[in-house]
Amino acid sequence: MQDATIRVLPTGTVNQIAAGEVVERPASVVKELVENAVDAGAGLVRVEVTSDRRQVTGVRVVDDGIGMGRADAVLAFKEHATSKIREIEDLDRLHTLGFRGEALASIASVAEVTIVTKPRDRGVIAGIRVRVRGGGEPEVAEVGAPDGTSVEVRDLFFNTPARRKFLKSLHTELAHIHGVVEKTALAHPEVAFRLLHNGRERIATHAADDLRETAGALFGTDLTRALVPAGGGNRFVRVGGFVARPSHTRADQYQIFLSVNGRPVYSAGIVRAIKEGYGTLLPANRFPVAFLALTTDQGLVDANVHPTKRQVRFTHEREVYEAVTDAVRTALHGEDLLVGEREAE
Ligand code: ADP
Ligand code: MG
Repeated sequence: MQDATIRVLPTGTVNQIAAGEVVERPASVVKELVENAVDAGAGLVRVEVTSDRRQVTGVRVVDDGIGMGRADAVLAFKEHATSKIREIEDLDRLHTLGFRGEALASIASVAEVTIVTKPRDRGVIAGIRVRVRGGGEPEVAEVGAPDGTSVEVRDLFFNTPARRKFLKSLHTELAHIHGVVEKTALAHPEVAFRLLHNGRERIATHAADDLRETAGALFGTDLTRALVPAGGGNRFVRVGGFVARPSHTRADQYQIFLSVNGRPVYSAGIVRAIKEGYGTLLPANRFPVAFLALTTDQGLVDANVHPTKRQVRFTHEREVYEAVTDAVRTALHGEDLLVGEREAE
């Protein structure tokens, strides 16, 4: 065995490599933490970002969700440790955004992560603080804490300088973070979201469980006045949400928002299906404004295509596209478009 050159990598190294897939930039950290907060049943998710003049220096996500007891707060940092699935079949009945059990382990392998948490509804008085830096041993302490969880990430990529070099300007990184909070808020109108940068509020949505209201909080009431409800579906998918009257087109896809079973996704196929629903109402080279929430049986959609879960695969792609096109077409034709435009003025 002495001449063996193959080595099984130590866990820390494995996690750092995995982090390369999940944790690309500060916004990926925000995405993972915000998803965990939603999965924990939070009613309010507060994202606090700090930066100096050049870069993001810290991210903290605070939720009022179920929280964790001492044992779970330590286990949460272990790779492939999750409370969300137990076996592969659970993916077919998944109702959480997370399931890979690798986000916290990955992030903590390339940053310093501090969790402060206290379980809700368990009569526990003290909270727990667990800190892990660069995949090291967890440091555990009892602390006073409100119900719920806060996760703070500092010194991102301190031990992976190559990754740090690829970070873009502060402006770009902040824009990505803004986008993540925006998308998650739109996918979960039943949850209130706040985004603060150096103490200044950038996003504030309410938990109204109304996609139109969340879109209004993000993009203004001029836009929401132009939205008409779009609904429909077939055996494979339910389509809900809003599309804007053709008076509100854009040169880009920035305000085409899609979620599938509460997960914000991008799908070129669905964007095409939406455009087809507008048909000739849409000027050439313009994009519509649309906020659509799709729901399917979990067995008909696969979110496990990519570690970041931004893409999904449908078992019945064509039928899903047809349902979207129909919903959009019906929404626009059901409206008296001219009256609508006058009202919008
Ligand atoms: P996953 O979300 O895929 O399960 P993570 O590494 O993101 O993996 O989280 C690991 C576990 O830690 C979760 O399954 C959950 O039990 C717990 N956890 C993480 N964040 C929170 C939170 N904000 N509130 C309650 N529990 C959490
Ligand atoms: Mg997670």
